[in-house]
Amino acid sequence: MTFRFDNSWARDLPGSFLRQVPDRAPLPELLVFNRPLAIDLGLGPEVEAQAAAWFSGAEVPPGAEPLALAYAGHQFGGFSPQLGDGRAHLLGEHIGPDGRRWDIQLKGSGRTPFSRGGDGKAAVGPMLREYLISEAMAALGIPTTRSLAVVATGETVWRDGMALPGAVVARVAASHIRVGSFQFLAARGEDAKLRALLDYTIARHFPDLAPGDALGLFDAVAVRQARLIAEWMGVGFIHGVMNTDNMALSGETIDYGPCAFMEGYAPGTVFSSIDRQGRYAYANQPLILGWNLARLAECLVSWFDADEETAVAIANQRLGAIAGLYRAEWVAVMRRKLALEGEEDGDGALADDLLAAMAGQGADWTLTFRRLAHAAEREEAPLTGLFTDAAALRAWLPRWRTRLSPDAAVRLRAANPAVIPRNHLVEEALTAATAGDMEPFAALLAEVQRPFAPEAGRERFTLPAPTGFGPYVTFC
Ligand code: AMP
Ligand code: MG
Ligand code: MG
Repeated sequence: MTFRFDNSWARDLPGSFLRQVPDRAPLPELLVFNRPLAIDLGLGPEVEAQAAAWFSGAEVPPGAEPLALAYAGHQFGGFSPQLGDGRAHLLGEHIGPDGRRWDIQLKGSGRTPFSRGGDGKAAVGPMLREYLISEAMAALGIPTTRSLAVVATGETVWRDGMALPGAVVARVAASHIRVGSFQFLAARGEDAKLRALLDYTIARHFPDLAPGDALGLFDAVAVRQARLIAEWMGVGFIHGVMNTDNMALSGETIDYGPCAFMEGYAPGTVFSSIDRQGRYAYANQPLILGWNLARLAECLVSWFDADEETAVAIANQRLGAIAGLYRAEWVAVMRRKLALEGEEDGDGALADDLLAAMAGQGADWTLTFRRLAHAAEREEAPLTGLFTDAAALRAWLPRWRTRLSPDAAVRLRAANPAVIPRNHLVEEALTAATAGDMEPFAALLAEVQRPFAPEAGRERFTLPAPTGFGPYVTFC
């Protein structure tokens, strides 16, 4: 089976896109193809056979109506009324075998009227990075867009004075409806179009809600986003650019740019070279959740109640509740990560106290949680050895033991990954791929796709960066 495209965005949301065909890649070469995902989407070998042409923009697959979507966004707190797909093309929405609808989007596929000063292109490294990290997130069980393929274009892309091989990633998303999609229409006072987008979003993601139920939509998005950010925090994921244009109403992680996983636990961890103030630091992500949801509320508030004052009071009440909503989701994530039996009031404090014991210790986030399984089996050295001074941890362990479920070790290993995409391994794989060697990438991808499997035989993928790797900096 091949694509079954529908193009509801083009049909239902005039004024929110421009028709725009991708650039024709001169010499497309398929670098990686996601066969399991293709199978889930009901896509047969004929799609893989066409992948180089279709996912580079060299040819437009039958039924696709390529669009560049319009959106606005707050970038690092400052509002841009028009961003939009400056280097991406939505090919269309593929209807899978179960009737579910998936956006198929190319990124790195050429300039559009939204490109501003940009070249519309992307380099092999960052596109493979999106593929690798989004697939790792999917394997970790975290809502995310997926990657179907990366195709080298045969073009040269210039970044910081370096000539790099160009590439396109084919992204699969529940949708590309962003907070910024709402902001784009709200900022222009396009009330009828904003209402159309509201109803479109409800129909596509929250079909239990009645058309026009803006408050219901806000509440549903707040829950999904709170859950998502709690999951990020659980694995030490730092998105890096939580601008409102990079927050999807579907609740999926979207737009893998300078994101990376924290190694040693440090709440202020920032990797992105452009995040100079630490706005999107690890521990700030839950605060930015509330900030971004406030921007969404601003677009919807007039529908919260016919009376303006009441509408604002409702919005304030909702925004005031985000911190508590997030906290409940985070405690749920931590209960799972700590394999606690049932639910008790002190569980959040127990989790807080583990973090307090980890603070300043340089203990690797991922390994600390993974090695709790050893501690549950009464073997503490692998865990305590991660800490410079394990005194606080030693005081914490007996409290935790009283809350453990009987099958704790099994549950701990199922909840805490052995393998995440380690920064030094990601860099090694992308450097090799940029030079034409895909083998390290393929090897790393295979490991991050089974994060919870035993360490044996793949220890190299479980360990933090060697100290010689130095502080890690990521670029968009
Ligand atoms: P991002 O930081 O990836 O979320 O992108 C923010 C905005 O910049 C979006 O409107 C992108 O389409 C645009 N953009 C990023 N890179 C490029 C590029 N190389 N050419 C054109 N537009 C770009
Ligand atoms: Mg973006
Ligand atoms: Mg980006």
